[in-house]
Amino acid sequence: MELLEQRIIRDATVIGDDILKVDMFLNHQIDVDLLNDMGKEFYRLFGDMGITKILTIEASGIGIACIAAQYFSVPVVFAKKGNHKNVGSNVYTSEVFSFTKGVSYTITVSQDYINPEDNILVIDDFLANGKAIMGLKDIIDQAGASLAGVGIAIEKGFQPGGKMIRDNGIKVESLAIVDSMKDGKVKFRR
Ligand code: 5GP
Repeated sequence: MELLEQRIIRDATVIGDDILKVDMFLNHQIDVDLLNDMGKEFYRLFGDMGITKILTIEASGIGIACIAAQYFSVPVVFAKKGNHKNVGSNVYTSEVFSFTKGVSYTITVSQDYINPEDNILVIDDFLANGKAIMGLKDIIDQAGASLAGVGIAIEKGFQPGGKMIRDNGIKVESLAIVDSMKDGKVKFRR
């Protein structure tokens, strides 16, 4: 998606070898107009798949998922990080290793909000090693629901997550795929 790529070039910064910081428009300050265009694009890519729900993970996925959901007219469910007693005892949980924090954490979704009839679009801000997406897939599998596809804002194509998830036969659409970030210079996959 040209607009997102331009924005990354203009406003993103590269941290170390493999972290892209997009606090200027996605992860701290949020450009709602850009998210709106991203939501339209997700709808163009997945709109004919009979999606009943969008599943994401707190916190950064929520804004992207909610704006996209307006086009799909479906609810958003977000996995909470940690063991939440107030979610209740009937929960699905999975373990996710965090690429940015270097630790594992539990994600929790109430069994009330995903059921076997659901055909789910998973949305997240970044795809790196694919652990967050596989954790969400695990929860969808536990619920007996269907995973229709995965919509990602920014995939880092030099990390293995995208290939691993596609090799599992899952449709993955990333609005921007970064192929390299050498010396702070971002190059996209064409
Ligand atoms: P994965 O689970 O695919 O290894 O990593 C994806 C998750 O880690 C995303 O939910 C995102 O929050 C975070 N993440 C991974 N790489 C980056 C990055 O380069 N920049 C930012 N801001 N977050 C990232």
